[in-house]
Amino acid sequence: MQMNHYDCIIIGAGPAGLIAAVESHLPSKKILILEKMHKPAIKLRLSGKGRCNITNEAPLEEFLAHFGKNQKFLKYAFSEFFNADLLDYFRKEGVRFKLERGGRWFPESDRAMEIVDALLRKVEHLNIPIWDKAQVTNIEKSAEGKFIVRIIRSKENGKTVQLSADKVLIATGGKSYPKTGSTGDGYALAAQLGHTVTKPQPSLVPIETKGDLAPRLEGLSLRNVSVSVWCDGKKAEEQFGEMVFTDSGLSGPVILSLSRTVVTLLNEQKKVQVSIDLKPVLEHKKVDQRILREIDAHGKQSFKSLLKQLLPKKLIPVFLEMLNIPEDKQLSQVSSDERKRLRVLLKEFRFEATGYGSYARAIVTVGGVRIKEINPKTMESRLVKNLYFAGEVIDVDADTGGYNLQAAFSTGWVAGRAIKQSF
Ligand SMILES: Cc1cc2nc3c(=O)[nH]c(=O)nc-3n(C[C@H](O)[C@H](O)[C@H](O)COP(=O)(O)OP(=O)(O)OC[C@H]3O[C@@H](n4cnc5c(N)ncnc54)[C@H](O)[C@@H]3O)c2cc1C
Repeated sequence: MQMNHYDCIIIGAGPAGLIAAVESHLPSKKILILEKMHKPAIKLRLSGKGRCNITNEAPLEEFLAHFGKNQKFLKYAFSEFFNADLLDYFRKEGVRFKLERGGRWFPESDRAMEIVDALLRKVEHLNIPIWDKAQVTNIEKSAEGKFIVRIIRSKENGKTVQLSADKVLIATGGKSYPKTGSTGDGYALAAQLGHTVTKPQPSLVPIETKGDLAPRLEGLSLRNVSVSVWCDGKKAEEQFGEMVFTDSGLSGPVILSLSRTVVTLLNEQKKVQVSIDLKPVLEHKKVDQRILREIDAHGKQSFKSLLKQLLPKKLIPVFLEMLNIPEDKQLSQVSSDERKRLRVLLKEFRFEATGYGSYARAIVTVGGVRIKEINPKTMESRLVKNLYFAGEVIDVDADTGGYNLQAAFSTGWVAGRAIKQSF
């Protein structure tokens, strides 16, 4: 059968695939990008609530620490193409950036579309074709060492088309937010070619909690709190920052970051508690001293008035109920045991985790193509020559803060450069 042949086929028009296409370009080489959705980079368009938190200001070691156990894999890619390089890359395309709280970089316009447009302009300028509505369903290697790539083109009534290529880059993303096109296809394609895939699980997801406590507080966001994850009486992880209560549990930046640990523990069938420290800068003793000071100064006032000094309004009825102390009790009548209960609740406001949001609500996927099977200096497979990987399909993931997009761009950049050099 006569097949169209390409020097390189890139599967997935997300940030990783698009930057790789640009960086692999040579005028004499035929490159094709295949995208299963009706338009490229849908997830990138949604990123950062449509504002695109493209990277983070953190220096290399601190940046890497935001990736889980596989952080070492990214060290080379980041040493070649890091945060300042990424910002410069887009500045050359006319994008201006601003730095926000937590070292987060955003386009000054607050429009993720600026990044998408800049990438697509580059691709178009180099005349690299993107076939949309083209879903890759199979890849195999022919006896002559070429890749045979089978696609379904929904544009052509679901017609199946076969293409061949000398090189293939899989940049299909993870499994989270499947409506953006990332449905985990890349894991199956990698497996078809002999790769091992570390079991994917949703991450950066809201946590569901037991009972009606969190739903009663829905919408309340807490800043400057310390949140810890507890399992078998031991603290598994702790983070400081901002969180919010939802109709089914907990969410917000700190919770999303802690969700990797919570999801893993829940999947191991462990009992998991999430504890919120509402007064993280004060040790237990200092909290007690603060309560005592209030009691001494305002002995005639009610217990509720003390809570007003210590808590956001929405938390007051919940605390009154949990402490089982009448709201009109005079402060001078508060016992040392009641004081202790209040102190402990302020420092350890606990919730039992019962579940987590599905892939539909997960910002990233944990798991993916095993890093041991990929050369971190080229992103080429160690098992199959001329096969490359980039972006979230690889088993790397990070906290929120711009780290995930930087990883997608850096691995895509390295893969693209390596492909170009290998032509
Ligand atoms: C709502 C949301 C907001 C986010 N915000 C941020 C943020 O502000 N900052 C940050 O750092 N990270 C953010 N992330 C994470 C970040 O967007 C991803 O980690 C990043 O997009 C991964 O890039 P990628 O190119 O590897 O994959 P993707 O962006 O997922 O792109 C993969 C592409 O491959 C296509 N594809 C999949 N399978 C096939 C197939 N079989 N054939 C052809 N094409 C296929 C998909 O349709 C998709 O277009 C956010 C994620 C979500 C869900």
